Amino acid sequence: MLPTVIGEELGEAVDAESRVDPPELDERIGELTYDVGEPHIRLVDNSFGASGTAVTACPVSAKEFGGGCYRDERVRTNGHEEHLVSLDTQPCVECGTCAVVADTEWEHPAGGKGVDFDQG
Ligand code: SF4
Repeated sequence: MLPTVIGEELGEAVDAESRVDPPELDERIGELTYDVGEPHIRLVDNSFGASGTAVTACPVSAKEFGGGCYRDERVRTNGHEEHLVSLDTQPCVECGTCAVVADTEWEHPAGGKGVDFDQG
């Protein structure tokens, strides 16, 4: 690949180890705040077929992880079972993935809410 060739020809070897100790997920998203009554993402179609990809694609959602945005839900009523997706926008990091992989209406959060980018 071209970047490898350029690096081998022009680059200098890096002989160091990272000393960065990245914070855990709950430390990174614990201070996010959103308007609870006015979520910035709305599920238009909450069927698993339409929006289920978000359960694994959203970076703060995962099966068996209790605090994520999207959850895989089985709802049983009167002997009938539906496979649905539920959404909690409180831990959202505004990556925009679910706007692509799920059936949603997505807006940026109101000013002063959500992710605060230190570097602009
Ligand atoms: S914008 Fe990103 S972090 Fe937020 S709910 Fe969608 S996929 Fe998850």
